[in-house]
Amino acid sequence: MSQSHIIPLTDFGKLLAQRGLIVSIITTPRNFTRYSAAIAHAASTGLQIRMIPLEFPGDEAGLPRGCENMDSLTSMDLAPEFFAACEMLEAPLLKLMAELRPRPSCVVSTNALPWTQRVADSFSIPRYIFETISCFTLFCSHVLSLDSTQEMIAAAESDSEPFLVPDIPHRIELTKAQMPHQAKKKSSDNNIETVIDQIKKARSFSRATLVNTFEEIESGYVEGYAEVARALWCIGPVSVCNKRPNEKLDRGNKASIDERQCKSWLDSKEAGTIIYACFGSLCRISAAQIKEIGLGLEASGFPFIWIIRDASLTAEVVEWLEEKNNSLEERGLIIRGWAPQVMILSHASVGGFLTHCGWNSTLEGVSAGVPMITWPMFAEQFYNEKFIVHVLGTGVRVGVGVETGSGKGDEKGAFVKWDQVKRAIEELMEGDEEGRERRRRAKELGERAREALEEGGSSYRNIMLLIQDVEQQVMELGGRPLLEETLA
Ligand code: UDP
Repeated sequence: MSQSHIIPLTDFGKLLAQRGLIVSIITTPRNFTRYSAAIAHAASTGLQIRMIPLEFPGDEAGLPRGCENMDSLTSMDLAPEFFAACEMLEAPLLKLMAELRPRPSCVVSTNALPWTQRVADSFSIPRYIFETISCFTLFCSHVLSLDSTQEMIAAAESDSEPFLVPDIPHRIELTKAQMPHQAKKKSSDNNIETVIDQIKKARSFSRATLVNTFEEIESGYVEGYAEVARALWCIGPVSVCNKRPNEKLDRGNKASIDERQCKSWLDSKEAGTIIYACFGSLCRISAAQIKEIGLGLEASGFPFIWIIRDASLTAEVVEWLEEKNNSLEERGLIIRGWAPQVMILSHASVGGFLTHCGWNSTLEGVSAGVPMITWPMFAEQFYNEKFIVHVLGTGVRVGVGVETGSGKGDEKGAFVKWDQVKRAIEELMEGDEEGRERRRRAKELGERAREALEEGGSSYRNIMLLIQDVEQQVMELGGRPLLEETLA
């Protein structure tokens, strides 16, 4: 349960509801409050979609009160307790599903909730895994987990020595320092690794994997990972289902800026000139690093929208922002808290996206047709950087070399100085041939992304295959056909 899972799953729920299905999204009370505006907008257009809260046993698992989403964990050290609390939802979910009418025909749940496979099995209905990472990452992770590759990684002399990811369609080099923490070594000696083992095991019992991506950008990787997964359908990019202004605005938390103020600021700038800088919902950025980002944005000379999430707004940062207020706000708009990201990215004035390379943000940048400055921090974000820069050819690196967990990132190789930020912005926004080609490719990919979900597009077709598969499964497993019940 994190923004990067619930937001795209909610979008996917809307896409299914648009095809005539009844969708129930089960979450916890605090998440219910956060996401209910998005559901209310969808329901007001006649879609049969609802959100149902289940009490979250966080206290029982030893979590601080109110922690119902990864973004409210005070430390990632609490992740094992968080996963344990999620698993305690199994019995209440079983009870709820037994009472749901019409009866559910399938469960779609993210990879991080492997125990939902047992719930689906209890009702003899299929479970589909919803992946919020790319086929590129899924396939690279698979290749890198093989014993032969692990030996090669272990033989690397230092954490910064590059090695080639073998047997993939592109020439991609990584270092140990850039790999997600868990993938650097194989062991099962802590709770998080036990969760990862469970996720892997549950994969083999699921009916199929649904990936929030589209086939056109992942050629070779879809096919590669399809050989590992039982079945695989690319069903995204799901964020493009948000077409109306209120859908783009109310996505995830309530936006910390008034819609009209944001729009009129965007409208006041020339097309393709704004840098949008946002680091997702989980990154904890130190005060020292925040200052360098601000100085770099200011020195670039381009107008910018910069999001500083609540967790980074320490007293030191607030004081510094006050001191810098005039010079920063002369060129930029600073949003303290939560931005309506999809709304901003889809505005014609935005010309570049400075991103931490979370997969949702990456796909949202691709769908908006904007080139990106890549600043990966943790998890699989370095893989996404490789994908943006070397596979899509739409990115410029800010130049980070080290994965840092979601921590402060002040370690050597992770800290970025203001002049690196300025240089990357200039390189991205420049009008030379390379810059023009990058922008042209980004624009073209944006068009392909939108087409994928239009009638006849690749993801549109894959959603139909999914629906047919559920119907077939329900009949084989003795249930009633999905559409007969939902359309009744
Ligand atoms: N997001 C947003 N406003 C913000 C920060 C994030 O709308 O101020 C959304 C963003 O559009 C994306 C999600 O939150 O859909 C973040 O997911 P991602 O995979 O990019 O990164 P994570 O937060 O998991 O690091």
